[in-house]
Amino acid sequence: MSSPPTIAPRDKAEILAQALPYIRKFHGKTMVIKYGGNAMTDPELQADFAEDVVLLKLVGINPVVVHGGGPQIETALNRLGKKGQFIQGMRVTDAETMEVVEWVLAGEVQQDIVGLINQAGGKAVGLTGRDGGLMRARKLKMIDNTDPSKEHDVGQVGDIVSIDPSVVKALQDDQFIPVISPIGFGDQNESYNINADVVAGKLATVLQAEKLLLLTNTPGVLDKTGKLLTDLTAREIDELFADGTISGGMLPKIAGALDAARSGVNSVHIVDGRVPHAMLLEILTEQAFGTMIRSH
Ligand code: ADP
Ligand code: MG
Repeated sequence: MSSPPTIAPRDKAEILAQALPYIRKFHGKTMVIKYGGNAMTDPELQADFAEDVVLLKLVGINPVVVHGGGPQIETALNRLGKKGQFIQGMRVTDAETMEVVEWVLAGEVQQDIVGLINQAGGKAVGLTGRDGGLMRARKLKMIDNTDPSKEHDVGQVGDIVSIDPSVVKALQDDQFIPVISPIGFGDQNESYNINADVVAGKLATVLQAEKLLLLTNTPGVLDKTGKLLTDLTAREIDELFADGTISGGMLPKIAGALDAARSGVNSVHIVDGRVPHAMLLEILTEQAFGTMIRSH
């Protein structure tokens, strides 16, 4: 909220002036932001995030927020004496877990974010994939990463069948800020738990977004020695998959990012959400940080 007192007025003015060309360039453009990791659990970072979203909207950019909720789901499961289980970065979702996922994401996390954005002066509206028929899904067929003849049953984890963005477009044209929970619905109106990074990637594609930002709890994609990789192409990503450098939650994150980059989203970044105002800095200043994902 408050800038560090060490910044001189001249430097502040400089920073503001620097934002102008970006504001002009991005006016009217859609930015899909996946909000997750620590940025979502630390109250100060939460407030920063909400303010950034409102500021973007005020200068004529259209932020669309997709949120995750791994830590919050884990806490709720633990309360019920359950423990989350993951296969290839996806949460194994039995019927009871699905209930918890839906309740935590749509009931708690989404509404918290909507409240924070509204407190910061915006008009946020929470949606799940069911609202306005936004996101159809079916059960994910998960093939083993190393043995393609093997399939994993991860329960009610969803694969996106289609996205109808009309509800999102209607809201953003009308000054609202959509906040989307990654829950899809199937032919029988059943619910599916979909990885939020995958949802953000697909949504960015369908909305023809200018940018996709995936806020997370690491500086970006790291190599085997822990060094930040500032730039990655599809081929380099394949190598990192093959040698096991990328694992866990980074697997669906990169998959979602690459999918968007390949489908024409101009810039795709994995950014450290622990840095205050990371999103604003990425969009409105020259500063580049995190990992940029390129299709080639
Ligand atoms: P989020 O809530 O942001 O989706 P995830 O836990 O799902 O967070 O995914 C981010 C995590 O992926 C990191 O915290 C890290 O533990 C893991 N990870 C696996 N491989 C890498 C890698 N090469 N570089 C950075 N993080 C990685
Ligand atoms: Mg994740």
